[in-house]
Amino acid sequence: MHHSPHDPYVRVRGAREHNLRGVDVDVPRDVLAVFTGVSGSGKSSLAFGTIYAEAQRRYFESVAPYARRLIHQVGAPKVGEITGLPPAVSLQQRRAAPTSRSSVGTVTNLSNSLRMLFSRAGEYPPGAERLDSDAFSPNTAAGACPRCHGLGQVHDTSEELLVPDDSLSVREGAIAAWPGAWQGKNLRDILDALGYDVDVPWRELPAEQRHWILFTDEQPVVTVHPVRDAERIQRPYQGTYMSARRYVLKTFADTKSPTLRAKAERFLTSAPCAGCGGSRLRPEAMAVTVGGRTIAELASLPLTSLARLLDGDSETARVLTEDLKSRIAPVVELGLGYLSLDRSTPTLSAGELQRLRLATQLRSGLFGVVYVLDEPSAGLHPADTEALLTVLARLKAAGNSVFVVEHHLEVVRGADWLVDVGPGAGEHGGRVLYSGPPAELASVEESATAAFLFDEAPGPPREVREPRGWLKVGPVTRHNLREVTAAFPLGAFTAVTGVSGSGKSTLIGELTQELEGVDRLVRVDQKPIGRTPRSNLATYTGLFDVVRKLFAATDEARARGYGVGRFSFNVAGGRCETCQGEGFVSVELLFLPSTYAPCPDCGGARYNPDTLQVTYRGRSIAEVLDLTVEAAAEFFADVPAAARGLGTLLDVGLGYLSLGQPATELSGGEAQRIKLASELQRGRRGHTLYLLDEPTTGLHPADVEVLMDRLHGLVDDGHTVVVVEHDMTVVAAADWVIDLGPGGGDRGGHVVAAGPPQRVAGAEDSATAPYLARVLP
Ligand code: ADP
Ligand code: ADP
Ligand code: ZN
Ligand code: ZN
Repeated sequence: MHHSPHDPYVRVRGAREHNLRGVDVDVPRDVLAVFTGVSGSGKSSLAFGTIYAEAQRRYFESVAPYARRLIHQVGAPKVGEITGLPPAVSLQQRRAAPTSRSSVGTVTNLSNSLRMLFSRAGEYPPGAERLDSDAFSPNTAAGACPRCHGLGQVHDTSEELLVPDDSLSVREGAIAAWPGAWQGKNLRDILDALGYDVDVPWRELPAEQRHWILFTDEQPVVTVHPVRDAERIQRPYQGTYMSARRYVLKTFADTKSPTLRAKAERFLTSAPCAGCGGSRLRPEAMAVTVGGRTIAELASLPLTSLARLLDGDSETARVLTEDLKSRIAPVVELGLGYLSLDRSTPTLSAGELQRLRLATQLRSGLFGVVYVLDEPSAGLHPADTEALLTVLARLKAAGNSVFVVEHHLEVVRGADWLVDVGPGAGEHGGRVLYSGPPAELASVEESATAAFLFDEAPGPPREVREPRGWLKVGPVTRHNLREVTAAFPLGAFTAVTGVSGSGKSTLIGELTQELEGVDRLVRVDQKPIGRTPRSNLATYTGLFDVVRKLFAATDEARARGYGVGRFSFNVAGGRCETCQGEGFVSVELLFLPSTYAPCPDCGGARYNPDTLQVTYRGRSIAEVLDLTVEAAAEFFADVPAAARGLGTLLDVGLGYLSLGQPATELSGGEAQRIKLASELQRGRRGHTLYLLDEPTTGLHPADVEVLMDRLHGLVDDGHTVVVVEHDMTVVAAADWVIDLGPGGGDRGGHVVAAGPPQRVAGAEDSATAPYLARVLP
């Protein structure tokens, strides 16, 4: 292959990650390149799984040669060769484990600038010493409220939470909060050695003993003589006791494992801290003001208001406020001016978070890198799409390459270069159909993208349905909504529109409170289907129960006495104990972020070798979990209990997902479609109201058509559907539109227009109207 240092292309040869079929593709650097294709075609496998993953692998090798072993464990992307590849930065939607300390301010670094302002140019009480900027951060020892350690909330726990069933003895697992496996047994043995009775029901222990066991801060060390079990004889050892409260609080605060963190959270209560009133800062810091306001007050304002308030008198203040304003500007530009610095990241949508990170990158001063983004238009109103393109163009102008996986046609049209992957999903995709300037895609017949990109004629008008009644909501006063009332037609399809932050989610959240005329509410949101890798599509939809029964009913399983429990990776017995059925283990490496690597024992299979010897129609349980929905539908075609659920998953365009893909790896759009499918698969009795938040996220226009057919089918069956949506083709096909705005945050919160699409398209003051008018016949 020809390449020189001046070759302006990233050249990929022989990419075989996931479904990619030995892809060769050349993408120019220093351009905005958009990767398109139907869901599951392999766009992410190429952009993230191959190009970004390879760049990251090289980076790891260069900064940490000692990490070779880790890199080897984590695995390099399956690709022959990549040349011309710059360092890469990825901005992905799949969210990392939420930590309670991350906020809009920390993600954007704006908090640092604001602290500097308070430290250098704040108004101090008479006689007070000037504070270092660290003293304004709740995340440092210097700034954190001593009472709550900067969390703003005090977490505690209670006996009811720690011991849900007090008829059990400690040996029988009374203390539900304790760690599993040997660590839990170890604590039990220590208690035993300390002289506590671990064999009486919990409730029969004296109150002071129960209190000590659960809540003590002491950590006594004792010599433990482990009980001999038949297999091994252990020698006595020194064991340190830790109370259940201490264990739970410590795990919650320190662990990097989302599984353990989620488990610890179940045993916690929380209340605002009495010391700082939730501001998380020590009193000395809260006494300092800028423009008469504390740092906590400024951090709670929408960014647009904050920028307006910032005007320095002194020279120092001017310099610092200018810096802050210039950092706020790109955030506002990307339609996020309604957010405040103290908004915690777990309450943001994936799209909001990604755009925040994007805005921050504009100030990073990096050049010569390739940014890889995942559908940055998610959650973005068409009015803000131009701003998005402007921001991407700025990253490019700074000397970077911008590679974007995207479905939104305006963004696709704005690309310098297009890589179209397809033609279908999973094994029907995985080829590059086209790589070049957008205009010439028109001649590629196989491309599903071409059909939508170049056919701009509006579809035929749909007949508007007559409502069977109205569901009245309000008056609602919540977030930015002030006494808002709205009416949703029953037996019809309603689209709620408006720029990001205008109040759409808040309004439809309120719908759930008032359900007259409806028998049942089904909310299909984009929240993960599970917070741990133990949940997956199969466990969520109930399919896994069916599969485990099939395995337990095989002759081999019966001969060995394996029941359904044996085929679960969540309990001891059939699972691999090294990884406790997770399939991977966490690898910690000095200053690098912790990474997951396949389990060294089962290699990701999750089960122990004995369990894997049992096969159903020639496949082990692990092999069945590896099947895609599409393959599984064929494999289980004659098993009605499995086939029905698989059929609805196919219907919502998820045929390409594998059954065992961990919940934590699914995008918000995929999680939403899984929920929708499992809902569709249930028998539907009575009039149901379906609420969906941007159901087209992550979907190619071809997939959107399929999904919309399903949703309109529900309405034709007599149900009511309400969607929050930015895709104007979906809005145009609705029976009713409720447009919120006109702006985001304080500048939104009103119903700007409501009516059939034709009427809303003519509304004045509506940010949506002009875009809707364009797609109406
Ligand atoms: P797209 O980005 O076009 O929606 P993906 O690249 O995510 O498509 O998926 C392409 C194929 O690779 C699909 O068949 C999908 O099931 C499979 N795939 C994606 N991620 C994984 C994974 N982590 N493990 C195994 N297969 C995967
Ligand atoms: P949309 O759905 O139109 O993007 P939202 O209903 O999410 O708008 O937000 C409307 C307003 O309410 C915004 O100003 C937003 O910052 C605020 N808001 C939304 N959720 C929360 C929350 N959990 N905590 C505080 N403010 C919120
Ligand atoms: Zn406090
Ligand atoms: Zn394992």
